[in-house]
Amino acid sequence: MAYKEKTCPAGGITHKKRGEYCSRSCGNKKKHTEETKQKIAETQRAILTNGSDESEVRKHNYISKRINGDPDPVPPQVHTGPLHNQFVDGGDLWTIDE
Ligand SMILES: [Zn+2]
Repeated sequence: MAYKEKTCPAGGITHKKRGEYCSRSCGNKKKHTEETKQKIAETQRAILTNGSDESEVRKHNYISKRINGDPDPVPPQVHTGPLHNQFVDGGDLWTIDE
């Protein structure tokens, strides 16, 4: 690993990984203040609403996770063939009057 040795603030484990925490589960133990959460939310909102290609990619990636439900329901299959009282003859659609 190319990172310098440091001690994980959550578990006290010495590691050389990227960032201050030794693992993702330790990193998730960090408690943010409301002010910090607000700043994170503002930054994310700014990134997602600036209209750039990256914001579109981020939105797509977020939606793909389906956190807020199913955004792309598969449409029901539509029967596009002749109806029960129709038939095709010589390339033309004919209808039988019942
Ligand atoms: Zn740790």
